[in-house]
Amino acid sequence: MDRETLNKIKEELLKRKANIEKELESFAAKTDAEKNEYVSRFPEYGNESDENAQEVNQYTTNLEAERILENSLKDINASLKKIDKGEYGICKYCGKEIEVKRLLIRPDSSACVSCKRKLQNQK
Ligand SMILES: [Zn+2]
Repeated sequence: MDRETLNKIKEELLKRKANIEKELESFAAKTDAEKNEYVSRFPEYGNESDENAQEVNQYTTNLEAERILENSLKDINASLKKIDKGEYGICKYCGKEIEVKRLLIRPDSSACVSCKRKLQNQK
């Protein structure tokens, strides 16, 4: 992969990372800066029983969102680390280069299209 493409991908990854962090911080507190761990805050609407029910609902939604966003963040950070180490764009299963077209759409992918397909067929 040429440097220009790599820089473009890195920029995209950093942009996504910032967006995810912003979203996470809107309802969760960062507990571990190193590991990017977040804990959802419990929402406070009031003390009426319908308000309490709303709080629990919102909290459940937050927990699910937190899990998904944290996973995306981990993938993005892993990709950024690989860029720094010069190992970016290599399929973790077959060791071949991942298609640039795929990386431009999903810059945090760690497997090539054919390995991904094989894995999906196994399910
Ligand atoms: Zn592969």
